[in-house]
Amino acid sequence: MKKLIYLDNNSTTPTDPRVVETMIPYFYEKHGNAASRSHKYGWEAEEAVDYAREQVAQLIGADPKEIIFTSGATEADNLAIKGVFEMYARKGNHIITVTTEHKAVLDTCKKIEKLGGEVTYLEVNDKGLIDLDELRAAIKKNTILVSIMWANNETGVIQPVKEIGKICEENGVLFFSDATQAVGKIPVDVIENGIHLMAFTGHKMYGPKGVGALYVRRKKPRVKVTAQLDGGGHERGMRSGTLNVPAIAGFGKAAELCRLEMEQDAKRLSVLRDHLEAEFNKLEEVYVNGTTEARMPHVANISFKHVEGEGLMMTFNQNVAVSSGSACTSASLEPSYVLKALGLGDDLAHSSIRFSLGRFTTKEEVDQAIELVSNGVQHMRDLSPIWEMYKEGIDLDAVEWSEH
Ligand SMILES: *Cc1c(COP(=O)(O)O)cnc(C)c1O
Repeated sequence: MKKLIYLDNNSTTPTDPRVVETMIPYFYEKHGNAASRSHKYGWEAEEAVDYAREQVAQLIGADPKEIIFTSGATEADNLAIKGVFEMYARKGNHIITVTTEHKAVLDTCKKIEKLGGEVTYLEVNDKGLIDLDELRAAIKKNTILVSIMWANNETGVIQPVKEIGKICEENGVLFFSDATQAVGKIPVDVIENGIHLMAFTGHKMYGPKGVGALYVRRKKPRVKVTAQLDGGGHERGMRSGTLNVPAIAGFGKAAELCRLEMEQDAKRLSVLRDHLEAEFNKLEEVYVNGTTEARMPHVANISFKHVEGEGLMMTFNQNVAVSSGSACTSASLEPSYVLKALGLGDDLAHSSIRFSLGRFTTKEEVDQAIELVSNGVQHMRDLSPIWEMYKEGIDLDAVEWSEH
């Protein structure tokens, strides 16, 4: 039995063995509570957390004091948006975000609306990018926060973060970015990009699951968020709860490894990704979703027209692990809202597959995946009456299907 090839690194990355090594002592001999101030167990744990905080801060150009450890990016998204909404209630209640954000942001914004807030959802163009003039026009007197992700989880499309940061600064509104898909993969510097708050997570950058961080800027300006978890006052009062010391130590190590290795990883993976795309483009009616100009180096979201994505996946999912449609809602078989926001019809959205490579992806695996997926596409099309009609030159958009 051949190994199942993993090309779903945007869902989660495998934990780097060097990260696991770093974590182990904090389950055993160094098992202390980082808040215990009266003995060596506590001091060792606190030291590990302090060190990890430095490693994580260094990766994003922040001060260690600006890192709030959380259980992951979902919690960090919630803390940023709800925390700003509460803290800056006297200044205003309007938040601007984008329709292609992760559900952790969109559903939090929905909650904000229920709580009496006002949310503007910017649309994206067919490349997946926002219009900066639309952003400018959306900012009002009562706007307190702009929440725009760095890189999209489904398409890998990178928003013009630096320009967004500039607009926010000019207008005196806070800029929060869910940078979960970007941190550790491409250079992310909070100062250079005018970021005030930023969420990211361990398990998308070769660290453990269940740990993440919210960056909260401490000067120029000093930003504060209202805690969403009350208790012992950990994390400077912004996030109570005993720190997950082994996971935090691992997250720190993961951050350090990314800082040292992301450039070479990105170079290698972009070559493999481009190869994958070029090979698929040899098939007919293949479309790359999202701009190829500003995109994460390891991601390709591809529609194989007239082939149903879930069915296609069944032809190779014993050998290749990928995601179709929206990763997080693929259980529902609803076509991806992200792809629909780019203007894709249901057919193209349904025929999409996301390939996301990672640090441990090899050239051999990519070559095998190309062959398996290409064969699957061919197989599905051979069986498809729609494909036959297409090949006969019938205009499928003009056909009146009987069920309508
Ligand atoms: C994965 C992901 C999240 C959620 O992160 P968790 O750590 O699993 O909670 C949030 N936003 C984006 C863009 C993601 O890709």
